Amino acid sequence: MKNAITVESPTRVTLALDIIRKLDVGPLRGYHELGIVKRQITLADTLRVELLGDDCRHDVIECGDPRVPCDASNICVKACNLVREKFARRGFLKISIDKRIPVMGGMAGGSANAAAALRALDKIWGLGLTRDKFRELGRTLGMDVPFFFDGGTAFDSESTGVLEPIDANLKLHMVLAVPGFGVSTKEAYESIDYARAAKNTALTDTMRHALRAGDFDGAVKSMHNDFEIHVFERYPRLKEIRDGLLRAGCPAACMSGSGSTIIGIAYDCRHAEKIAAAVGCKTIVTETPG
Ligand code: ATP
Repeated sequence: MKNAITVESPTRVTLALDIIRKLDVGPLRGYHELGIVKRQITLADTLRVELLGDDCRHDVIECGDPRVPCDASNICVKACNLVREKFARRGFLKISIDKRIPVMGGMAGGSANAAAALRALDKIWGLGLTRDKFRELGRTLGMDVPFFFDGGTAFDSESTGVLEPIDANLKLHMVLAVPGFGVSTKEAYESIDYARAAKNTALTDTMRHALRAGDFDGAVKSMHNDFEIHVFERYPRLKEIRDGLLRAGCPAACMSGSGSTIIGIAYDCRHAEKIAAAVGCKTIVTETPG
């Protein structure tokens, strides 16, 4: 057991995203079945998690990014509450988040932080959590959280419990274009036109195959995101950014998650730096690990 620990909180991009359907029966009624190919990237926040003394009466969140809530609505506080309740632990924590992942950017930064916080709490409180237990706790916090315990590459339905690892054999370099505004996940879901859903699942199969086969061209051709059509209608600036990345030389560009970050694929890191310099908004150059 330790009193304080620093953990990295790497995030992911979505390389293929299908909106399949809204679930209207069962315990997950109201949730959406998706079909997402997620790929871990090196971009990460850093979390320092410290067990506070007995005189402290609540958890404390510190984060320099004003868009991240520092109260009980922070997903890291929810992770602390969940662990205290499930494992009868006492004591409050201070979590300092060094935020690099774009907020409200469709980059799952909050979910990545929740997973990292659970990993830190496991060490601090000596819980000895198994991978399955981590996933189960993660799922209580959010459908996007379980992916982060294994990371790597996976197909995730985010609702039906399907999280299939993909043995990916393809390194990707990319430029993340980060517009000056976020898109709320709620807003992105509100604008779904179900008549247009589940039309691109064959492309997702191609992506899975291409990643396994190390087929760069196949991956580039099958990159897509069903949210784009709806989100671009509301935010034409995002389509402009996507088109700008393609004009700057990306072989493929597409929105991550429910936006607003746009991913531009590059051939190598020098190419990524060149594209980043040519795009008229904030950019982050990143890559898949390993
Ligand atoms: P989602 O995971 O819902 O698709 P996103 O990836 O677009 O969302 P996040 O950066 O995860 O965006 O933030 C979503 C919301 O979660 C933000 O509006 C923020 O208020 C809230 N939030 C709570 N905790 C955190 C956290 N630790 N980091 C970032 N945002 C957080």
